Amino acid sequence: MATGPTHEPDCRCRICGSSVREFFDFGMQPVANGFVSEEQLGQESFFRLSVGVCTNCTMVQLTQEVPRSTLFHADYPYRSSGSAIMREHFESFAHSLLHEELSGPDPLVVEIGSNDGIMLKKVSDAGVRHVGVDPSAAAAKVAAAKGVNVRVEFFEESSAAAIRDEYGPADVIFSANTFSHIADIGSVLNGVDILLAGDGTFVFEDRYLGDIVAKNYFDQIYDEHFYLFSVASVRTMAARHGFELVDATRLPVHGGSVRYVLARAGSRPTHPRVELFLRDEDGNGITAMETLTRFGENIDRIRHDLVTLLRDLRARGKHVVGYGATSKSTTVLNYCGIGTELIPRICDSTPEKQGTFTPGVHIPVTPPETFHDPFPDYALLFAWNHAEEIFEKETEFVRNGGEWILYVPRVHIH
Ligand code: SAM
Repeated sequence: MATGPTHEPDCRCRICGSSVREFFDFGMQPVANGFVSEEQLGQESFFRLSVGVCTNCTMVQLTQEVPRSTLFHADYPYRSSGSAIMREHFESFAHSLLHEELSGPDPLVVEIGSNDGIMLKKVSDAGVRHVGVDPSAAAAKVAAAKGVNVRVEFFEESSAAAIRDEYGPADVIFSANTFSHIADIGSVLNGVDILLAGDGTFVFEDRYLGDIVAKNYFDQIYDEHFYLFSVASVRTMAARHGFELVDATRLPVHGGSVRYVLARAGSRPTHPRVELFLRDEDGNGITAMETLTRFGENIDRIRHDLVTLLRDLRARGKHVVGYGATSKSTTVLNYCGIGTELIPRICDSTPEKQGTFTPGVHIPVTPPETFHDPFPDYALLFAWNHAEEIFEKETEFVRNGGEWILYVPRVHIH
């Protein structure tokens, strides 16, 4: 059922309580991962997707929160292990964790948002004590089948206290692409405070605001990505909770991410990389209103160019399909008003999504086999963050004369 706009004209920062200045409004949007069955068509809820920057602590954030139970429920369809690049990425992190970070006897690793066990499997295989925490029962079942110990719940103060009571303090708390998804982020930091050992670290990685703005990755803005982190805003947020940002490293995944390391204030030296990051962000003015307004203008230009291109291809009788029914695609399709008249179907390898319809615009999601049956003239790549992996896999499409359409950093044919 559609709901009306509930935007607060004077939106307050979820970190520091100061006022948030909106810089872009995508209008009413469905839940990004809310893929619907035929029976559910027309029963979706919509919310206003707009994004602003805190005038005090500079945290970029959504102005309206979708309840966590709507976003992350038992049947949440995203599965981390669908990408070989992401499997390699997390295996390599687990390797460095096991060999460089966990030096004490019988260490404990806790992961917030462990999903299908993509990272913890290696920790479990090494016989190291671990706990994954994730409210998605279906994803947790996949993880458990790999031997990963998972608690199906939200990480917050109460679950952190329960884990500490049962297992003792955690040496490392890890989280990937989850911390920025939690609007009540204070509940996570309070939980980390309860659970983390005195000299432990809270390591998390998330998409980086600097890349999103510089490369026009506007489709990284959707309900789950409540915060878009910069190094400066993370440092300020950490300090409010008694933690210090002691390291920050760039990662190539998801179009550009950063791995942050927090420790209890004064417990570890700060790596000089942090200062370099802060200087760079300041020099580029990544949270300045002028920069963010320009980003908004670029988003509008991309919408215009993409719709013009797709209409032109349709007029020329070309066959275009979507590749990757990503959460990001929900923002693109609904903001641009692209439906089945321009994209008749989207191919996706996630079994949970196949046979459903995309949120809002209701494009059918079909299995990967349908991609070459027959090959389309063009494929609009929504999973651009896995472009190299996909290009390598789909060489036959290009050999058959097919061409890829990308819409970031600008609309172009690859
Ligand atoms: N870490 C994986 C990765 O990087 O691919 C999964 C990321 S997925 C986008 C986010 C995951 O966080 C989902 O599996 C979701 O169920 C889980 N999640 C959301 N809120 C959570 C919370 N408060 N505590 C623990 N897990 C949470």
